[in-house]
Amino acid sequence: MRRGAEEILVLGAGIQGVSAALALATAGHRVTLVDGDDDLMRGASLRSEGKIHLGLVYAHDPSFRTALLMLESALEFAPLLETWTGLPISWDRLVSRPFAYVVAHDSMIAPDRLFAFYARVEDAYRELRGRPGLHYLGGIPERLVDDAVPVGRVPWLSPEVASHLVRTRELAVDTIRLREVLRDGLRRRETIRTLYGHRVCSVRRTGTGFCVSGLTRDGAPWTREAGVVVNCLWPGRLALDRQMDLLPKRPWVYRLKIRFFCELPEAMADLPALTVVVGPYGDVVPWDARHTYLSWYPACLRGWSSAVETPPEWERACRGEVAPDEALRVERESLDAFSRIVPGLESVRITDVAAGVIFAWGDCDIDDPASELHERHDTGVRGADGYFTIDTGKLTSAPRFARQLLERLDAA
Ligand SMILES: Cc1cc2nc3c(=O)[nH]c(=O)nc-3n(C[C@H](O)[C@H](O)[C@H](O)COP(=O)(O)OP(=O)(O)OC[C@H]3O[C@@H](n4cnc5c(N)ncnc54)[C@H](O)[C@@H]3O)c2cc1C
Repeated sequence: MRRGAEEILVLGAGIQGVSAALALATAGHRVTLVDGDDDLMRGASLRSEGKIHLGLVYAHDPSFRTALLMLESALEFAPLLETWTGLPISWDRLVSRPFAYVVAHDSMIAPDRLFAFYARVEDAYRELRGRPGLHYLGGIPERLVDDAVPVGRVPWLSPEVASHLVRTRELAVDTIRLREVLRDGLRRRETIRTLYGHRVCSVRRTGTGFCVSGLTRDGAPWTREAGVVVNCLWPGRLALDRQMDLLPKRPWVYRLKIRFFCELPEAMADLPALTVVVGPYGDVVPWDARHTYLSWYPACLRGWSSAVETPPEWERACRGEVAPDEALRVERESLDAFSRIVPGLESVRITDVAAGVIFAWGDCDIDDPASELHERHDTGVRGADGYFTIDTGKLTSAPRFARQLLERLDAA
């Protein structure tokens, strides 16, 4: 490994940067974890729905590679974090109720093909199930997917919009609680130093490694030297990669997506977590009666950019400062659409609105069957010679990519 004044500088304290820092420190490296925000996990990782994907959403990737990446990543997620934090994590305190998939009449994949895809995911899981060291958020379920039930037999679903309900073992993690677990993990590692409130502006190679510089919250310049740099800046990643001549040569898109929290009416207290498939629909994740995540894609998609840097005006929405008239419009559209599937959802009370950024390959939206957004397998660690950049892809795959980073460093 190349050596500089500090051994490894991990840029970005979202799930990816924190996973990388923990993995590196566990392997004996000294790490400085830098973020422009005042705390860890305040970006997409916090805004995320937190689903630890088993691959079931990615039925429109004919290569099956996205489903497999998600499934394998999901089974590594908890074991890796447990090892690196050194903590016995009580996953049952962190996870949602299991997801049920609602198959829309106008699904991009017809039910028969969809169920064949679920069977393929189940087969892939059977191959992996019980392998030493793997588990899914503290459990090793017998099966992932139940048989589809016609919507006519599900009293709380409207048959007008959907044809089937498929119950699964898929779960989400509460990102606020996950953040606290990761914070404890960072504290326990004496070789990790955190440098929050430090915006990163530039990186350059030096004789011994790299020089990274930027501005503090007060506008004061700062500089750090390191032998190795790991770029986990997500919305800020490409701006730095460009300085290292690593700008991708294929189309990419940053999307700004709003999500709500709401209170469910009492009559809906037992609602499962729901994902509507396959296409531009949405999700509901009830945590408790007062705390339910909700997002309806066509209404909640608020920004689209193929620039190297995300538009500065997105930052307000990411901080939770969505203009009241915009929030109201998006709420109305989302609840109108959702209540056509689950009648009663129109009467939820919205308690919180904020957005997050999603990076992906592609140049057209998911309603186009040819859109690259249906494929999320070409993600992970790139770079060499001491500079690494990680396209997290999904929250689900962050620990896996941190493990792969370690393997690349060890091989260097
Ligand atoms: C609404 C929404 C729902 C989602 N749902 C899911 C889901 O259910 N399951 C799933 O697997 N994935 C989901 N995702 C995707 C997932 O959230 C992201 O892939 C993942 O969180 C990215 O993690 P990260 O650490 O790379 O980025 P982030 O969490 O955004 O972390 C990047 C960090 O870099 C910092 N930073 C950026 N630029 C700079 C700079 N110049 N200087 C200093 N610091 C900087 C930021 O402050 C931030 O802390 C969702 C995303 C969104 C937005």
